[in-house]
Amino acid sequence: MTFKELGLIEPLLKAIKDKGYVKPSPIQEQAIPVILEKHDILAGAQTGTGKTAGFTLPLLQILSAKVSKTTKPNIKALILTPTRELAAQVAQSVDDYGKYLPLKTAVIFGGVGINPQKALLRKGVDIVIATPGRLLDHIEQNTIDISHVECFILDEADRMLDMGFIRDIRKVLALLPAHRQNLLFSATFSDEIKKLSDGILNNPKLIEVARRNTSSEMVSQVVHLVDKDRKKALLSKLIKEGNWKQILVFTRTKHGANKLSQQLELDGISATAIHGNKSQGARTKALADFKAGSVRVLVATDIAARGIDIDQLPHVVNFELPNVAEDYVHRIGRTGRAGNEGEAVSLVCIDEHDYLKGIERLIKTSIKKVVIEGFEVDPRIKAEPIKAGGNRGRNNSSSRNSPKKSDTRTPRDNRRKEKKPFKKDYEAKRTEDGKSKLSNEGKKFKESSNKSKYTSAKPSSSNPDNRQNRQRKPRVQKD
Ligand code: AMP
Repeated sequence: MTFKELGLIEPLLKAIKDKGYVKPSPIQEQAIPVILEKHDILAGAQTGTGKTAGFTLPLLQILSAKVSKTTKPNIKALILTPTRELAAQVAQSVDDYGKYLPLKTAVIFGGVGINPQKALLRKGVDIVIATPGRLLDHIEQNTIDISHVECFILDEADRMLDMGFIRDIRKVLALLPAHRQNLLFSATFSDEIKKLSDGILNNPKLIEVARRNTSSEMVSQVVHLVDKDRKKALLSKLIKEGNWKQILVFTRTKHGANKLSQQLELDGISATAIHGNKSQGARTKALADFKAGSVRVLVATDIAARGIDIDQLPHVVNFELPNVAEDYVHRIGRTGRAGNEGEAVSLVCIDEHDYLKGIERLIKTSIKKVVIEGFEVDPRIKAEPIKAGGNRGRNNSSSRNSPKKSDTRTPRDNRRKEKKPFKKDYEAKRTEDGKSKLSNEGKKFKESSNKSKYTSAKPSSSNPDNRQNRQRKPRVQKD
């Protein structure tokens, strides 16, 4: 199958050629024709599968047929993403794939000045890519009109819900025209997603591509069993002796990310941290330095790392395992992307063995365990409960792998259903308990950020548009 056979128009084929893509990815093969036929879709696909091009290419094609040379454009497509990084990245894709088309785009997210966004919207755009909070700011200030939207795209819908954006999404939905095309993308498919999609989608076509966690041959995974206080030394050794050049390292907490990056620096390994407590400018710089190769290690928390797309990222290290098994899949999905090989290394101490079991259950694989000479585990050390500090507020999820001793789930949490494979779950009957099971609602999330060429990136602390200054409840990042 070629892109041409999918029915894409010449300006898009040219842009695809410029990107160097040889053939469509599985999600693109499935999604592009269906979207071009104006169907709603419910797609089970995660970052790294090529899903962005999967919806952007047909969207651009549909909209290009509607461009008027005489009148000011109105917003015909709205793409909602959970994080600023993802919004910026999707906007970049729209720009790249649409470079030979006369469509205008605006990306709007918080943490940067709102006025340039207002100015852009005033001039008129065809496509808006937004995070929910800043979109609602514009709506409240009457600086955006979404009443002409013909296509609504919800990207990473599961993350949206995890991050407590359900109310914001509902507010946005209420302002959209009833007749529109809807595309919903989610890596996992829980009861909440089913409820949301039932409310949004109209007779959707189901699209599911192989989950990276079950089938990715491109990522080799290994676990190094090691004592907690020896992890840093082992990481330094692996980096130095393996001569690793570009490593994305995950910690569970912001504090842990800072501490580790400082310790690596002391070991002579250039490192920087990216997390929700860093200013917009600092995060942008950290990411840019890492991408440019001037910093060897980027230490990140899960939320901050969402949307990071670096081609050929060779090494991902789980310095600490995530307490949500799905996050392991998202983490290792940062490597082995777009047909390149990658390596995912997890440093696992005795406290994390239950997390590891949960991950192995999810990916249906026993990950190879290798003990490195000189880093043998001390059998006298007993497992201790892991503090809840690293939990991103998803304590309602039964996919959480907390060790039993520290299991803090409430009866309400226990009612939740296990996250199931996407399609199977969609086709399964709705549970009797139709109530919303989102425990995160109300505890809002401060979006991670990334500088985009579309916006002026002022640090949020100096910015009068900063959401902390607003009437609405401040969001607290929970990474
Ligand atoms: P996404 O899943 O949309 O985040 O895309 C992951 C990566 O795959 C991005 O770096 C894209 O540029 C790349 N990509 C998307 N489609 C293709 C394709 N057909 N062939 C090769 N790379 C692709």
